[in-house]
Amino acid sequence: MKIIKKIYEIWEGALEEKGHEPVLFPVVIPPENFEMEKEHVEGFTPEVFWVTEAGGDKLTVKLALRPTSETAFYQMYNLWIRSYTDLPLKSYQSCAVYRHETKATKPLVRGREFLWIEAHDAFATEKEAREQVAQDMEITKKVLYDALGIPFIFFKRPSWDKFKGAEETYAADSLMPDGKLLQLPSTHYFAQRFSKPFDIKFEDSDGNKKYVHTTSYGPPIWRTVAALVMVHGDDRGLVLPFAVAPVQVVIVPILYKGKEKAVAEKCKKIVDVLGREGIRVKLDDSDKNPGEKYYYWEMKGVPIRLEIGPRDVSEGVVVAVRRDTGSKEKVKDEKLAERLTEIADDTLKNLRERAEKRMMGSIKKAATLKEIEKIVETGIAKVNFCSTDATGEACAEKIKEIGGEVRGTWFGKDDDVNPLGSSPTTNVSRNNDGVNPKGCVVCGKKAKCVVYVGRAY
Ligand SMILES: [Zn+2]
Repeated sequence: MKIIKKIYEIWEGALEEKGHEPVLFPVVIPPENFEMEKEHVEGFTPEVFWVTEAGGDKLTVKLALRPTSETAFYQMYNLWIRSYTDLPLKSYQSCAVYRHETKATKPLVRGREFLWIEAHDAFATEKEAREQVAQDMEITKKVLYDALGIPFIFFKRPSWDKFKGAEETYAADSLMPDGKLLQLPSTHYFAQRFSKPFDIKFEDSDGNKKYVHTTSYGPPIWRTVAALVMVHGDDRGLVLPFAVAPVQVVIVPILYKGKEKAVAEKCKKIVDVLGREGIRVKLDDSDKNPGEKYYYWEMKGVPIRLEIGPRDVSEGVVVAVRRDTGSKEKVKDEKLAERLTEIADDTLKNLRERAEKRMMGSIKKAATLKEIEKIVETGIAKVNFCSTDATGEACAEKIKEIGGEVRGTWFGKDDDVNPLGSSPTTNVSRNNDGVNPKGCVVCGKKAKCVVYVGRAY
C-alpha cells in the first residue's frame, strides 16, 4: 500500500499540474444513467455487478457497481456545463472499480475489484479534445517512463478492441520479461458519443448551443505495481525506483565487540542528516545478523543500502551498495546525501535503459503466421495488415489462434506499409524491409497498415 500511495501521488500530481481537479462520485450508478450510451452499456453489461437488495429487501431499482464512471460523471456534466466559459471541464477520481471478469483473475493484473484513476474531460471542440488525448500520453510518459523507468508504446487499438463507447482508443503496452504485453493506461476520444445522449450542451461565444467533445483517461494503479514488480524485479526480489520506494535507503550497522557505541552513534547521525534531506531512510538495528538484513531489504527492493562498521567511523566514510547492480562504493560522510541522489538517478536510468532495450530489441518483422508464432514467444511481431477497422477482425482472429493479439498501430510512428505491387527491385518473396510485400500477413489482401502483435495479459 505504501508503493500504491506513492504511485497515486505521482499520477495525481501530474494530472493536477495539467488542470484536472479531484472529485469523488458514488460507487453505484443507476441504470438510467448507465444505459444511456448504447455501445457502452452493451459492452460493459456482461461485466457489471448489480446491487439488488438492501437490508433483506429487494430494491425497486437495481444499481450498478461502477465498472468505469463515464455515465456517473456525464449526468453531472449535463448540469455543470452551461456556457463555453465552463470549458474545458477536467476532473479525475482515484477509486476502485468492479468488473465481473470471466477470465482467470491474477493479483495486480486482472481483478474483479481494482484500483485506478479515471479522468473525465469535456471540451468545446474536437481539436481540444484530441489535444487532451495527446496530453494524456505526455502524462503517461512523465509518470511511467520518467519517474518509474517503465517503457511503453502507445498503440491505437483496432476498432474491435476499443473501449466500449469510444470513437478511438489509445493504450500503452509494456513488454514484461516473460515476453507478454501488459496494457497500462489508455486514453479515449469519445467525440460526441456521450454528450448527445447525456445532452451535455454549452452556449458557445457565437451564441449557438453545441455538444461538448469528451475524453477519458485511465491510469491503472494496480497494474503499475505489477509492471514495477515484473519489469525491474530480479531473482532476489523487488527493485524499486527511488520515487516509489517506501524505504529509499537502509542502514545496516556492522557491529564489533567494544565498538558498538561509535557505530550506533554514526548511524543515528546519518539517519538525521538524510532525513533532513527528505530521503526516506531506515536504520535496521534489529538483532538479525547483517547477512539476513541484506537479504530482507534486497527482497523489499530498497534502492540503496549503507553499511557502517568501525573502520568507516574512523575513516569518515560509509559503504553504499546499489540494489540494481550490487556495486559497492565508499562515500565520504560530507558528500553522502549528494552522492545518494546521484546513485538514485543513475539507478533509474539503468533500470529504464535495461527495460527499454529488452522491449525495443524484441520487435521483429514477420511475413507469415509461423514467424509471428515464433516471435511472440519472447516479444513483439511487426506485420503488414489489411485493416484495423471491422473488416480486419477476421484476420486478427486467425492471429489469435496462434496465440498472438493484434495490439494496433504504433501511434506517432510513421510505419511504412509495403502494399501489393510496391515491392522493390528484387524478385524474392520479401522486400528489403522484411515485411511481406504481398499484403496482409493473414489474408494477403492489400495492407493498409502495419500492426504490432504480441501475447498479452
Ligand atoms: Zn487481412
